Amino acid sequence: MTLPDGKQLRGELISFSGLSDQREHFAVRFSGGSLADPLLRLHSECVTGDVLGSRRCDCGSQLHEALRMLDECGGYLLYLRQEGRGLGLYRKIDAYRLQEQGSDTFEANRILGYADDERSYAVAVEMLEALGLRAVRLLSNNPDKAQQLEQAGIRVTERIPTGVFMNDCNRGYIEAKVRKGGHTMHL
Ligand SMILES: [Zn+2]
Repeated sequence: MTLPDGKQLRGELISFSGLSDQREHFAVRFSGGSLADPLLRLHSECVTGDVLGSRRCDCGSQLHEALRMLDECGGYLLYLRQEGRGLGLYRKIDAYRLQEQGSDTFEANRILGYADDERSYAVAVEMLEALGLRAVRLLSNNPDKAQQLEQAGIRVTERIPTGVFMNDCNRGYIEAKVRKGGHTMHL
């Protein structure tokens, strides 16, 4: 893998069979770090942010930051194919249109007839079980993710916020936080 700044990373892509929703979720494993409770990032697919580099959200930046940390510290990225908070790409674009007309991201989802967040981490739990991971240090600002994992029997020994310098990691990791550009930016 190569990050936008040219940094080369070495990870191993892992596929799964028999996941309950039949989608092609995958994991990327980075060597090193704790075996007892490895660093884990759950990343929900965001084609516009991850692939096209849209600044409407900070998904791409968060993904790159997570990959950089995992490459240095070891651990796992689970890439979950639940685009647009679970709505899918087309409906996410519909929601963007509503946002351009003044709704915020949550209002837009509700106008379209969906909950604020349709994502589920049940399939992530299946993946963690397949990988033999019973405890993790979760790289996330989202308490809901940690809660869903805990409820499913995965121990979250630490929740590490994203977008900040990591003290418990290699000292070499000093990257300026990449902040999202704000609501008015376009693709
Ligand atoms: Zn996004």
